[in-house]
Amino acid sequence: MKFDGPFAFLADLLFPPRCALCGAVVPFGVSVCPACEKECVRVDTCRRIDLAENGKTISCMVPYRYDGKVREAIIRFKFYGQTRSADFFGRQIAGLFPDAPRFDFVTAVPISKERRRTRGYNQSELVARRAAGRLALPYREVLIKTIDNREQHKLDRKERRGNVKGVYRAAGGGSLQGASVLLIDDIVTTGATLGECAKVLLHAGAKSVRCAAISEVLL
Ligand SMILES: [Zn+2]
Repeated sequence: MKFDGPFAFLADLLFPPRCALCGAVVPFGVSVCPACEKECVRVDTCRRIDLAENGKTISCMVPYRYDGKVREAIIRFKFYGQTRSADFFGRQIAGLFPDAPRFDFVTAVPISKERRRTRGYNQSELVARRAAGRLALPYREVLIKTIDNREQHKLDRKERRGNVKGVYRAAGGGSLQGASVLLIDDIVTTGATLGECAKVLLHAGAKSVRCAAISEVLL
């Protein structure tokens, strides 16, 4: 909640600002508490994701390592309904795209209908919507996950690519023809999921796809 003017002081008393990662009370204007700040591994890397199609690759920008307080915040975000970190993560991703005007829109890696029903939201979509807001770009839902496949983190590198093959498709409504897309996910490990989604977008007519993830796991 945000209040301005004479109400700001009262609002801070009633709703004190909290650390985006752990929820501890923080001073006004601070988004992450010192303990979390210390245990975040900021990497700001640009990874290449192999699309396994004539040597084609796409880039993926990643602000954090999947470790420490970032890992804890993502687990709470994904599995315990604590979505407070979405805005913070969205801002961190947005900050990595100073050339944002070249994109037509932002989208996210989808989750299945069943998963969405049980979780109530798609964590990557919440982050992507926040990033889009920061970048002054529209958010569009252009991908659907049609098969509830096995969880990627339970599989080895070789199995991961096969596990995501054919589970996504382009959503109807609105053309992707010639579009430059920024595609966002929560965690990137081998890049199999982002790569598969990017391929679907490119085959549906998108001109270019670049990716971002909140964090990376190094295998
Ligand atoms: Zn904290």
